[in-house]
Amino acid sequence: MLNDSFASNVQTVTVLGATGSIGASTLDVLGQHPDRFRVHALTASTSSAALRDQCLIHRPTLAVLADDRDEAWLRAELHGAGLATEVRSGAAALLEVVEAAEVDVVMAAIVGAAGLLPTLAAVRAGKRVLLANKEALVMSGALFMQEVTRHDAVLLPIDSEHNAIYQCLPSGGRDGLADAGVTQLLLTASGGPFRGWSADQLESVTPEQACAHPNWSMGRKISVDSATLMNKGLELIEACWLFNARPEQIEVVVHPQSVIHSMAAYSDGSVIAQLGNPDMRTPIAFGLAWPDRIAAGVERLDLFRVARLDFEPANEAAFPCLRLARDAMLAGGTAPALLNAANEVAVEAFLDGRLGFTGIARVVESVLEACDVGRADELEVILDEDARARRVAERYLTR
Ligand code: NAD
Ligand code: MG
Repeated sequence: MLNDSFASNVQTVTVLGATGSIGASTLDVLGQHPDRFRVHALTASTSSAALRDQCLIHRPTLAVLADDRDEAWLRAELHGAGLATEVRSGAAALLEVVEAAEVDVVMAAIVGAAGLLPTLAAVRAGKRVLLANKEALVMSGALFMQEVTRHDAVLLPIDSEHNAIYQCLPSGGRDGLADAGVTQLLLTASGGPFRGWSADQLESVTPEQACAHPNWSMGRKISVDSATLMNKGLELIEACWLFNARPEQIEVVVHPQSVIHSMAAYSDGSVIAQLGNPDMRTPIAFGLAWPDRIAAGVERLDLFRVARLDFEPANEAAFPCLRLARDAMLAGGTAPALLNAANEVAVEAFLDGRLGFTGIARVVESVLEACDVGRADELEVILDEDARARRVAERYLTR
C-alpha cells in the first residue's frame, strides 16, 4: 500500500520552545517540507497567543503550556477554530510529548535550565535530539553524554558553531578528535554588540543595547550572553562534551562577519570551515534531514558581497565570562552547572534593571568562589546545585 510506505518516511517532530526564536525557525523549515515532517507537539512557557497561532498553521496533535494559567483559554481557542489539537499543561506533559512512541525527532529549544528535564527525557527515550538548549548540556555534560550512548539517541547540535564543527569532522566527531587527526577546534564568535569596547564603556550598557545583536535575531537571554561572551563560554563547554575535547583544544576566534560558523584544524595543516549566511534555519534543516540535505529557505552566501573575512582574539579582560566558563570546565564536576545557574539569575536581573551589565560576570565569579564543586554524576545533585547557586547569586545581586 502506497500510504503505508509514505507514512513510514514521514518524521514526527515535537518542538520544545516552539514560540521562541529557534522554535519559530524550526517551524519555518518544517512548513517547507510537509511531505517529510509532521508536527506531533508544540510547547511554550507562557506565550499562549503565539502558540495558538502556530497551532492554527501546523495543526499538531498536542499543544503544551509549561504554565497552566492559559490552558483553558488555549483549548477554547483551538476547539473554537475546529482543531482537534489536545491542550495540556505542566512539567509532566512536557515529558510526555517527547517520550511518546510516535515521536521520532525532538527539537530541544527551551531556553535555560528549564530545558534540562525534557531534553534529557528525549535522550533517554532514544529519539533524534536536535540540541539548541545548550544550557542543558552545560549543566549535566557527563551524565547527558552517557545517556546519549546508553539509549542510542542521535544527538545533533543545532548551535551554529557546533553544527559547523559537526560538519567539519568525519562522522561528526564520533571517532574522537585524535583518531580523526584533529588538533584543534576553532570556535568563531561575532564578538557581540560591544566588540572593541573597554571595561569602562561597558559599565553603562542597557538591556536594549545588549539585545541588539549585530548579526542574529535571538531570544533575550542568549542575546545578553552573546554580549557578555558568556555565550561563547557556554559554547566552549558544549563543544568539550559534544566532541570529547579538552578546553585547551578549543580556540575562540572573533570573526565579526559571522559567515564562518566554526572550523576544525587537522594535523596536516588543513583547516576546514563551514560557511553560510547567519541564519539558524541552516543548522536546523541539517539536523532535521541528516544525513540528507534539504532546502532551508536560506539564500546562498554571496562571497563577493561578504568581500572580506576578519579575525581577532577575544578580549577576555573586558569580557571575563569567557574565562570564567573555561575555568569552570577545567574545574569539572558541578562547576559548569553553578556557572550556568548564576549566569541565568544575573542575566534576568540585568534584563529587569536590577544589575549592571558588568555585574553579570561579578555575580558569576562570586558564586563560583562561594560554592564548593562536587561530583556531577547524578541528576538530583545537579538540580540541587543549580538551586543552591541561584540562592547564592540572589544574595550577590543586592550587594
Ligand atoms: P527564546 O527566548 O526566543 O525562546 C525560548 C522558548 O522556550 C520559548 O518558546 C519559551 O516559551 C520557552 N520557555 C522559556 N522558559 C520556559 C520554561 N520555564 N519552561 C518551558 N518552556 C520555556 O530563546 P531562543 O533564542 O529560541 O533560544 C532557545 C535555546 O536555543 C537557548 O538555549 C539558546 O541558547 C539556544 N540557541 C539559540 C540560538 C538563536 O539564534 N536564537 C542560537 C543557538 C542556540
Ligand atoms: Mg552559537
